[in-house]
Parts: sequence; C-alpha cells; structure tokens
Amino acid sequence: MTDPDCLFCKIVTGVLPSTKVLETDRVLAFRDINPDAPTHVLVIPKDHYANVAELARSDAALAAEVLAAAADVAAAEGVTESGWRLLANSGPNAGQEVFHVHLHVFGGKPLGPMISV
Ligand code: AMP
Ligand code: ZN
Repeated sequence: MTDPDCLFCKIVTGVLPSTKVLETDRVLAFRDINPDAPTHVLVIPKDHYANVAELARSDAALAAEVLAAAADVAAAEGVTESGWRLLANSGPNAGQEVFHVHLHVFGGKPLGPMISV
C-alpha cells in the first residue's frame, strides 16, 4: 500500500531518487537529504503507515523488521561499537515533517544530549 501523494512512498516507488543504504522485500533505508551526523539514515517500511503507532498496531512483524534493519544499517555504517541513536518523531511537538513512518539512525560522532529544548 503506497500513497501517491507521500514523499517517502515516491522514494519507494522510484518516482523520487534516494541514496539507498539497505533494501529488503519490505524495508528500505536511505540517506537523509539534510544529514545531522556523519551517519544519518532513514529506515522505512515500504508500505505506508503514518507513524510508529500505526505501524506497530497494524503489523508488529513489520515493525520488528524495521527495527532489525536499523541495527543492520548501524552495522553497515560501522557504528555498532562507537554507538548510534534511533529516533522517531510523531506529531507536532516532535516536529514530524514526513507522515510516512521512519526511524532516524544517527552515528559517527558524539551525539550529545538526548533532546535539546
Ligand atoms: P521528520 O522530521 O522526523 O519527519 O524527518 C523527516 C526527514 O526527512 C528530515 O530529516 C529530512 O531531512 C528528510 N528528508 C526530506 N526529504 C527527503 C528526501 N527526499 N530524501 C531523503 N531525506 C529526506
Ligand atoms: Zn508513504
């Protein structure tokens, strides 16, 4: 299920380009276009879900696949030992901009405090 008006669905279908890091049957990982760290990769299910809650409640197995793919991305980027961070924004206070669920994988430098306010 893809949404023709969704930015990340367009990346899944190839309508928009991306720099792929990892791909499985159901999951895609690609570099963030505006990186905040040396490693900044977005991990998404190919099917469209608006946020983490929608994904987890609709397809728990797929949610687990996305999580495992994030760990695989960290390994492929060589940051498993140095450390990395997963982040998922949901809703306005979190600043969610793209309403196709995505996990940010950050690494490659000390990442500082967990949140800035
Ligand atoms: P969020 O604020 O969690 O919704 O994050 C959306 C992220 O998507 C931001 O970090 C953007 O830099 C990133 N982004 C937006 N458009 C693209 C694109 N075409 N390719 C890769 N990353 C993108
Ligand atoms: Zn989508």
